[in-house]
Formats: sequence, structure tokens, C-alpha cells
Amino acid sequence: MRNRRAALAAIAGAASLALTLSACGQNSEGGSEESGDSAKGGTIGIAMPTKSSERWIADGNNVKKDLESKGYKTQLVYGEDDPDQQVSQIENLITQGVKALIVAAIDNKSMNNVLQQAKDANIPVISYDRLILGTQNVDYYASFDNEKVGELQGTYIVEKLGLKDGSKKGPFNIELFAGSNDDNNTRYFFQGAMNVLQPYIDKKQLVVRSGQTKLNQVTTLRWDGGTAQKRMDDILTSAYKTERVDAVLSPYDGISIGILSALKSDDYGSKSKPLPVVTGQDAEVASVKSIIADQQSMTVYKDTRELAKVASNMVDALLNDKKPEVNDTKTYDNGAKVVPAYLLEPVAVDKGNYQKEVVDSGYIKESDLK
Ligand code: BGC
Repeated sequence: MRNRRAALAAIAGAASLALTLSACGQNSEGGSEESGDSAKGGTIGIAMPTKSSERWIADGNNVKKDLESKGYKTQLVYGEDDPDQQVSQIENLITQGVKALIVAAIDNKSMNNVLQQAKDANIPVISYDRLILGTQNVDYYASFDNEKVGELQGTYIVEKLGLKDGSKKGPFNIELFAGSNDDNNTRYFFQGAMNVLQPYIDKKQLVVRSGQTKLNQVTTLRWDGGTAQKRMDDILTSAYKTERVDAVLSPYDGISIGILSALKSDDYGSKSKPLPVVTGQDAEVASVKSIIADQQSMTVYKDTRELAKVASNMVDALLNDKKPEVNDTKTYDNGAKVVPAYLLEPVAVDKGNYQKEVVDSGYIKESDLK
């Protein structure tokens, strides 16, 4: 059903893209020019968090492309992981008179004032991928099933260690990493993973030697790989003098790469000291290469092309007085309201299925993996 809809949207998108692109030049800011024929529905503001991760670059480009194919102009901005910068970028977009906003927040709690300005100017807001908290002024949420992301990571670990089918009893050593504490997704990813891992920790089949098991002990500010590398270094030095780590829960590919660097500096990956199971998320090129090279174990693939379509369709519906399609009206309470959401399905990817899932689907080019 979802695929058929996606295919139809893609066909419709391609057709209108051909009609509109010629009238729609690009400027250096990554937006379409304001002069010339006015595109149907005006300009949509797209605020993305950072260019330091591939996925957000792709998200920005895909949302822009989808909206332009529907006849809108776009202004795409990146906040470079600085919440204040992102807020002032959104203020600018409001001043420029955008018709709607699509926002992937850096700090989910920093948006109250600016979204009040959006509300006062009658600009609808789509929370993109990350839920914005504490304000009524967010209309819809487009994301993935974020708890499922964590479940896939946790399940991969217990399966790979042989705990799930009971073929091994352990104990195995595991260390836990979570994302940025200002990103609402972080707790969903962690909760999903812990739903699977906690029973084994309780039975002592999994042991966290660092003792760091609470979310506030394991977060990684701004999802930074270097920060994660440093924490893994410290843990290896303090808790693994004689023991060996068998698995690391990592929420995001950039963090996984940092963790793997720390492990390799400590001789993991040599014959006598195999690398632990290391999870990830986003199917970034560096991590898919690492998976092919038997280093990172898995990633969670989220087709951000589909997410971009969901968000663009929401905007298009809202600006045409239609109700956007949602498939979840319960899960995402932002503290001020339950935000109606459309959630896509994440997929676990490892060496066995990366070709089918991320290459054959066109998400990553085969040549980029060479
Ligand atoms: C996204 C993840 C991403 C992370 C770091 C989260 O909000 O859902 O896909 O790995 O941010 O950019």
C-alpha cells in the first residue's frame, strides 16, 4: 500500500518536475529564485540541523526536490548543529513570508518563541524526523518508528551473541551509547533497545562493566563521533583492563565509526581480539563500507527519500485545505499536545542484505562503496 502510494507519488512528481524546473532557477543558498513566474503556493522554508552527516544533506535535497516538483519554491537552511543559529534562520524564513515550515530541530526544546511567531503569521509547521517539544504550534510530525529503530539494534545484538536462540548463555560484556540528549528521538531509540537488552542484563547474561546504564550517563551531545570515541577510550581503559567487550549499542553510524576507532586503537580487530558487535543507524556510506569490511556489524536503514515525500505531501495538503495523511495519533505527545504523525518503517541492514536494501533500491550508488 505504502509502496504503491510512493510509486504513484514518484510518477506524479517526475511529471510535474519536468513542467516546473525550467521556470525555477537555483541560487547559491540552495533555494529557488524568488523572481520569475510565481510557483504555486509560494515558498516553503526547510530548516535542517547539520551538513556534517550525509543523511541530512540528502533529506534537505529530497524535500526541496519534492516540493519543487509540486510547484513550490523553497528556502533550505542548515543550522550547523547550533540551536541559536537554527532559531534565527527560522525567524528569517518567517520574515521572508514562507507559506509553511519543515523543521528538523537541533534542540527540540528551543523552538517555543519562534514557533509562536510562525503561528502568529499563520504558517503551519511540520516537525521533520525529530519531534519539537513543549509547544502547541507544531501541526504534524513526519518520522520513522523510532522505538523500532532501537529494537532492531537490540535484537541484532542478542541474535549475534547467540542469546536469543539460547545457543549461548554468556555472560557477555556490552557497553551502551545513546544520541544527543536534546533530540527527542534519543530516548525512543534507547528505550527500544533496552526493551530487548534489559531482560538479559537483569539475568546477568549481559554485563555492562562501566556500570553506565542510565540514559543520562550514556548520551552523546550532538551525536558527535569524536565525543563517542573519547568515551569508548575511557571505558576501555577503566573497565576492560583484563576483560573484553563483546557488543556495543551505538545509535548512529557517526558514533559507531568513533567507537570503532577507539576499539581499533586498543587492538580490537586483530586475530586474537575480535571486534565486538557494533550497531548503527542511517546507512551512511562510511558505515556501509565498514559493514562490508566486517567492522561495523549493522546499521538501521531509514529511506529518507520516503520521509521527504511524507513531509512534502503534508505541506501540500495543508496549503490546499486538505487533511494530511497520518498513521499514528497516539505515540508522540510533545508535552503540549499529541502531534499527529506519519511513521515509516526502519529496516535492519548488515552484510547479508545491504545490496538488496540500500544498493538495489538506489539509496546508495554501488560505485560509492568501492
Ligand atoms: C535521526 C537519526 C540520526 C541522528 C543523528 C536523529 O534524530 O533520527 O536518523 O542518526 O538524528 O543525526
